[in-house]
Amino acid sequence: MPTGTVHFISLGCPKNLVDSEVLLGRLVLDDFAVCEDADQADIIVVNTCGFLEASRQESIGVIQEACELKKKGSASGVVVAGCLAQRDKDKLLELLPDVDAFLGIMGEEKIAQLCEDLTKKVKSRRAKSPERYQVERNDRECSADVGRLRLTPRHTAYVKISEGCDNVCTFCIIPKIRGVHRSKPVEMVLQEVRELAADGAKEINLIAQDTTSYGKDLYGGFELPRLLREIAAVPGVRWVRLMYAYPSYFTDAMIEAIASTPNVVKYVDMPLQHISDPMLKGMKRQITKAETLDLMRRLRAGVPGLVLRTTFIVGFPGETDADFDELEAFVKEAKFDRAGAFKYSPEKGTPAGRYPGQVDEAVKEARYDRIMRAQQAVAFDRQRKWLGQDVEVLVDSKAGKRWVGRTYGDAPEIDGVIYLTGGKPKVGDLLRVKVTRAEGYDLHGKVVEREAGVPAASVSGA
Ligand code: SF4
Repeated sequence: MPTGTVHFISLGCPKNLVDSEVLLGRLVLDDFAVCEDADQADIIVVNTCGFLEASRQESIGVIQEACELKKKGSASGVVVAGCLAQRDKDKLLELLPDVDAFLGIMGEEKIAQLCEDLTKKVKSRRAKSPERYQVERNDRECSADVGRLRLTPRHTAYVKISEGCDNVCTFCIIPKIRGVHRSKPVEMVLQEVRELAADGAKEINLIAQDTTSYGKDLYGGFELPRLLREIAAVPGVRWVRLMYAYPSYFTDAMIEAIASTPNVVKYVDMPLQHISDPMLKGMKRQITKAETLDLMRRLRAGVPGLVLRTTFIVGFPGETDADFDELEAFVKEAKFDRAGAFKYSPEKGTPAGRYPGQVDEAVKEARYDRIMRAQQAVAFDRQRKWLGQDVEVLVDSKAGKRWVGRTYGDAPEIDGVIYLTGGKPKVGDLLRVKVTRAEGYDLHGKVVEREAGVPAASVSGA
């Protein structure tokens, strides 16, 4: 008999997804059975996002739906973990009276016992109710994210190389929620990567609040180059991808490591947020326009074939028409392969939330449309460079009759895909494919070799 059944809802970013995988792993280790349907579960766990007001509202809506199921008697407990639970203790306890317990961002040691206690409570009225607010401090050392129950396809995985952030971006609440920057020791990261590779992960996506700061707290210097090389050497790992690279600390040694390590894909996700100097200063991004342009030049010169992804914020307080025009011109000229944008959202507890010169919502909306239109034209044009190329493709899924994969230029979930014809692909295969057509953000291609770099006879499915 299982200890109980649990339905798990993971919201937010890949960093939260890793936390969800760890929490689920702990529950399964304690003999909880994971249940697809919320109304069939004893316990519903919601791992929340609290980054922006919109994500907080989404989280609260999902929690309230779970509480409704509990009121109807189909679930006996609701547990809230993650970023939302980490902040606003008094507000949450009052706003969500039907939630049985709140765990913060570091609840992996408590989740199993808590769910057990809630399950016992239903079976026996005399069982003690667990404490409602069990959120721990957010500055604890990182522990290894091992023993996960994976939520991504087996061939791809996220690895969190550090927790928290020491930067002071004035729009961002994350350092208050997740605490100061704490890197995981190299050996701990490698232990995770080995476990994931043994479980079939060929693609390792490195994430953190700020990946370029990796190592400065533990080793007194930036150790991302060493980490990239050591991860790339783990048997079974074929692609290592760098996400969330904070531009101000992007060193030449990092560029060299990306360029010279074969299994590190030539792809960088580097959020820039803006390009006008007054905006960069107001955001406290610790980089100027000239330095950004120089970094992009060094990156592109140093890493042939680089696919560059970025993110911008439009409508930051004080953003004038001239600031925005400068950003739009930059987007047209800098030719990012992929870029996304957010409309600035004033967050309580952040300096920028109190800045004068908040931009009207209609203006933000119009600027968002303009920037996305400008980038769409650039992105569609950039896609044409793939035409006729032989590229490695990692097969993700089958949609109807079509197999769907990604080249190294596409990160999971956020970028485009390539639709495949020919061959006999299987999910998790790494194939050599000739690109035949570009269509919007996506590509089409024909399989020319079953396993990239490996004779067809020795191919084994993942
Ligand atoms: S780098 Fe800036 S935006 Fe990113 S988590 Fe840190 S403070 Fe927030």
